[in-house]
Amino acid sequence: MSEFRYSPLNDSYVLIADNRSRRPDVFSEKRNKIIDCPFDEGNESMTPEEAYAIREHGKKNGAGWKIRVVPNLYAPVSKTVPESCDSEYFKIRDGYGYAEIIIETPIHNQTMDSYSINQFELYFQAIINRIVEISKDKRIKLIQIFKNNGPDSGASQTHQHSQIIAIPFIPKEIVNRFKRLKRYYEKNGSSYFYDLVEHEVASDKRVVLKNADFVAICPYDSKTPFEIMIVPTGNMTSMIFMNNQEIVSLAEIFKKLMAALRKKLRDFSFNIIFNEPPLRYRAIEKFFRFYINIIPKLTVQGGFEQATGIFINPQPPEKAAKELRTALNYGAEGRT
Ligand SMILES: [Zn+2]
Repeated sequence: MSEFRYSPLNDSYVLIADNRSRRPDVFSEKRNKIIDCPFDEGNESMTPEEAYAIREHGKKNGAGWKIRVVPNLYAPVSKTVPESCDSEYFKIRDGYGYAEIIIETPIHNQTMDSYSINQFELYFQAIINRIVEISKDKRIKLIQIFKNNGPDSGASQTHQHSQIIAIPFIPKEIVNRFKRLKRYYEKNGSSYFYDLVEHEVASDKRVVLKNADFVAICPYDSKTPFEIMIVPTGNMTSMIFMNNQEIVSLAEIFKKLMAALRKKLRDFSFNIIFNEPPLRYRAIEKFFRFYINIIPKLTVQGGFEQATGIFINPQPPEKAAKELRTALNYGAEGRT
């Protein structure tokens, strides 16, 4: 079963997907039990046929790859779902969509902070390829790319991977965000992102690092400790518009941030969210830029957060930015 159920109480959807419950959870397995990892090089037959890969040698669906994208075996949405029925009271949409896994490295125990610049470039190129390919399906309205890393993040595999879930409608939360951003532009004559970058760089209180193409900040309204937002310094609405130089710039920012976070937090769980615009949204370049959130999972959402949507963050983002900047400088000295 895979269906989006609508809640009139909250004006939002829940995705009911019972085949997710069959996922093996390596975090809850006994440590001494040896589990064959489906994402390892040599175990390609344990995954569905690949949708994308970059290889140094070897054949499709065999060894020799550097990065690989495969359909999710435990997909919460599917291209083959039957049409769902609907009633006046219980409104649902069928769980049509794409669910894919980006296997970011063939090395089982590698952590993201140890990726080379080239590995990050391959990662972003894989994301770009999947956005371009999946967006050819006219039924798809939103392609959400995200990474769950570690036992507190929602991940069920330790091997480094990200996920793509593409769905046939735009959730209300995202529609409303675009309405707000459009209104902001109409009222102020400049985009929220332009003003954000200007103000943050000028005040320099929450900037963690920046280069010619991107700036990384701890947002003024951080929901959790060490939350990071990466924004392009120019008007770029989607990752698909990055040129080679911008891909390298983003790779450099990511590598430094992951190293600084690792230094501060050691083995920490985190989520990465790639905020791409919904497909076929037109004329958004004046008020939207793609942005990326890195969210360490150091706090748990309690009853207050779930009831009100107001997060309680015990760490001011100004302090987080300062600590990360210190970690970056220390790291730079350590390397020379
Ligand atoms: Zn593995």
